[in-house]
Amino acid sequence: MNESETQHLRRCIELATEALEAGDEPFGSVLVSAEGKVLVEDRNRIANGDSTRHPEFALARWAAENMTPDERAKATVYTSGEHCPMCAAAHGWVGLGRIVYVSSSEQLTTWLADLGVGTPPVRPLPIQTIAPDIPVEGPIAELDEEVHALHRRLHGGK
Ligand SMILES: [Zn+2]
Repeated sequence: MNESETQHLRRCIELATEALEAGDEPFGSVLVSAEGKVLVEDRNRIANGDSTRHPEFALARWAAENMTPDERAKATVYTSGEHCPMCAAAHGWVGLGRIVYVSSSEQLTTWLADLGVGTPPVRPLPIQTIAPDIPVEGPIAELDEEVHALHRRLHGGK
């Protein structure tokens, strides 16, 4: 993880924090071009009642509308938490490239169980179970604890 990659991941955690403080769930993502330019960023927006408003899904749609297939394949999505199956599928369908996540779905599952939160309606499978050709990196040690703290805040844990 070089300096600029760490910076993108830190930005994802900032967006996740912003989401939490706005009443949404703590997830944030950034789409970065092959040249290292931040193209678009978003955060979770499910508080309005639409549980599909995940940032990774929004970035996949933005990429489909605004990037060529070649640009998409060479782009990287940085994200605070590993894509859920819906977002992994969207990422795979639009042909985006590498994913770097701070914390894994496996970690999130453990954290939520520890906090006594019920299981989600969609099974938290690893990205590569859904879209096997996507290069994936994560979890990122130390930063993952910051994401863990956001989920503890959301669910009232210590
Ligand atoms: Zn998702």
